[in-house]
Amino acid sequence: MNRLHPSDAWRWLGSTTELAGLTRRFAGRRDFVLLFHSIGGIRGANYKPNVTVEQFDEIVGTLSERYQAVDLPELLVPSQDTRFAVTFDDGFRSVYTSAFRILRAYEVPATVYICPEFIGDQNCELLRSRHGLRESATDVMMTEEQVQQTVESELFTVGNHTATHADLADVDAERLIQEIVGGKQQLESDFDTEIERFSYPYGSMTEEAVDIVSQHHSIAVCSRRGLLTASPNRFRIPRLDGNRQASSLYLETTDYGEIVRSIGRRLLNRL
Ligand SMILES: [Zn+2]
Repeated sequence: MNRLHPSDAWRWLGSTTELAGLTRRFAGRRDFVLLFHSIGGIRGANYKPNVTVEQFDEIVGTLSERYQAVDLPELLVPSQDTRFAVTFDDGFRSVYTSAFRILRAYEVPATVYICPEFIGDQNCELLRSRHGLRESATDVMMTEEQVQQTVESELFTVGNHTATHADLADVDAERLIQEIVGGKQQLESDFDTEIERFSYPYGSMTEEAVDIVSQHHSIAVCSRRGLLTASPNRFRIPRLDGNRQASSLYLETTDYGEIVRSIGRRLLNRL
């Protein structure tokens, strides 16, 4: 039997715009970070987790109208406003070709977490197996030139997503350092910049990994789902999956959404 997944409930709830309108009265008071991968799909891929260009435009437009869009580290400074930050994992080319244009239009900053090994489709083996890419799929990941332009842009910032997209819970101590510190150093030397931000591949966080990340970066995001607390742990920042309808996402950013989420968790635990 298929288990009920929390995202199914959100999709159902978010499908009624009246409900999304109702939730305005429960407007969120907690900051949040959005997680995206590719925007608008990948030609020649069976890769599911992405939003269309139109959906992305609607999400960014809706949320930046209701909340204050900020650069990620600003979320660590307390504020009266409810704020959000945008992040992308892996460095898909569609982020450069489709998402940046929309983010610029709304003046929304973003962080793009890059694996040096993915740049210019170098490691196609891993990309093919992870995202169901056909042999013919090309131009999937950002090129060196595009990463360089991202580094130089005022609105966007490049972060470290490890050297080879390793599962940090599954590597020995030596490799852990190569992945975290080596990935950072390679990006810094290849693009003549300083890398301060980190994203854990697969959301895998061991105590050792968090420890090394914290010695070499100033902020790190994970894949744990949720809104930020009043004083978030700067090396375990949770995120919300942006891969959904704008109304459903908006619902999840409200206090009402937090209540529903906690009830949902309790119900699922009883199944
Ligand atoms: Zn990733």
